[in-house]
Amino acid sequence: MKKVVIIGGGMTGLSAAYYLHKERMEKNLPLDIKLVEASQSLGGKIQTVRKDGFVIERGPDSFLARKKSASRLAGNLGLSNQIVHNTAGKSFVLVNNHLHSMPEGSTMGIPTKIMPFAFSGLFSPIGKLRASFDFVLPKTKVEGDMSLGAFFRRRLGNEVVENLIEPLLSGIYAGNIDKMSLMATFPQFYQVEQQHGSIVLGMKKSVPVKKPSNSPAPSKGIFQTLTNGLQSIVERIEEELPQEDVLKGMKVLEVRKVGSSYECLLNNGHILQADKVIIAVPHQHLPNMLNHQAVFETLKSVPSTSVANVAMAFPESAIKKDIDGTGFVVSRNSDYTITACTWTHKKWPHACPKGKVLLRCYVGRPDDQDICDKTDEELVNIVLKDLKKTMSITEQPEFFVVSRWKEAMPQYTINHLDRTKAIQNYLKEEMPGVTIVGSSFYGAGLPDCIDQGERAVKETLDLLFN
Ligand code: FAD
Repeated sequence: MKKVVIIGGGMTGLSAAYYLHKERMEKNLPLDIKLVEASQSLGGKIQTVRKDGFVIERGPDSFLARKKSASRLAGNLGLSNQIVHNTAGKSFVLVNNHLHSMPEGSTMGIPTKIMPFAFSGLFSPIGKLRASFDFVLPKTKVEGDMSLGAFFRRRLGNEVVENLIEPLLSGIYAGNIDKMSLMATFPQFYQVEQQHGSIVLGMKKSVPVKKPSNSPAPSKGIFQTLTNGLQSIVERIEEELPQEDVLKGMKVLEVRKVGSSYECLLNNGHILQADKVIIAVPHQHLPNMLNHQAVFETLKSVPSTSVANVAMAFPESAIKKDIDGTGFVVSRNSDYTITACTWTHKKWPHACPKGKVLLRCYVGRPDDQDICDKTDEELVNIVLKDLKKTMSITEQPEFFVVSRWKEAMPQYTINHLDRTKAIQNYLKEEMPGVTIVGSSFYGAGLPDCIDQGERAVKETLDLLFN
């Protein structure tokens, strides 16, 4: 019997446990699997609150549809009939305290259509002129890595970065665009620029042209979720796994090599023997867990930022001035504390009963981390004060759900790929059979985490049985 220990029951560790169990069943493999999760429940950052007909996500609320591993996993779990796309409504950027609709044709903030960009109120004439330098500037010469901010500031100028690109891209990682690694986050922008010379012309050629639609129904958006919340995936995986395979409320303190196998020391003093170990925990836990080896000590300097979100439920009558759209992001130069707001009842109609409104706002910029320490009531008041600058809200929420995520967003800072490679090389040489995966390393979106779980299973089975 071969023994595999998986550490961490978030999306990455769960998908590893699920796919390993599936292989064991389908191929009748002699495998003992143990999934160890520190908290009392599985799912890590996936947490759904179901209340009075509302489906409220405390953490992630959706996944990118074009990355297929999440919908495939949901399909394997028999949840395909629960998958829904978001409504592709208008979205806005709040700049200098005004809501501006996103210029048509902008892809992740990069303009691909000239006219909507030229007529947008988001930029001054000088900002627009500066952005046009993109057509003539030589290609970027990058030695190793550079920041996303530096790359876009050079091509399109500061104004386009501050008013459009920064609010969109930094929101995804809750990071500072001037510290985020170009190569680890959006290398496709660099590749497009290298291929076409201009990022605008390159993106224009790379983005598929949308066929005009005669249908009055709102078109499908690029995200998907499950009607009963993302936690459905977690619950179904837990149902699939044999109970004795899952150890909840138990922490792995240390992984040590003993001969050609491993021992995982638990906080209750027990030791789990393992032929192979898959570690799927946030990077800040690794130095302690792996005996302070120099290669893991470097992770201590990699920050994780904190954010909080506030979901608020209202009766429809409480919103007097409605806006035709699904939400907005806020630029750094606006006098707002919130960084984004989703009109969830419009973006995800299944998540909100008829006659109600569900708004979900984020706070917590990299330079405003203390905001997450405010009390629930303080956060709700701050968020409402901001919202009332753009919407007319006449009543207090019927209820609210505040979720704090302390040091939960790993930052892919410059040279992230080199750091990750050094860890991979170290494991190969010194700890073969230990695989480190998860949102701190090879992509933070849910489909990226699932891909990593699957890849870890493949590597583990190759080593054990081939
Ligand atoms: P985690 O979910 O952090 O799981 C790690 C697990 O390891 C935890 O359960 C932890 O308790 C456990 N653990 C830690 N130490 C130990 C130990 N010593 N022993 C045992 N167990 C341990 N992604 C999207 O695709 N779409 C979104 O809309 C989206 N929105 C997000 C919103 C928020 C607020 C946050 C925080 C993230 C969001 N993300 C989103 C990112 C995505 O949710 C995460 O990247 C992903 O869920 C991380 O999964 P993971 O398994 O790698 O890590």
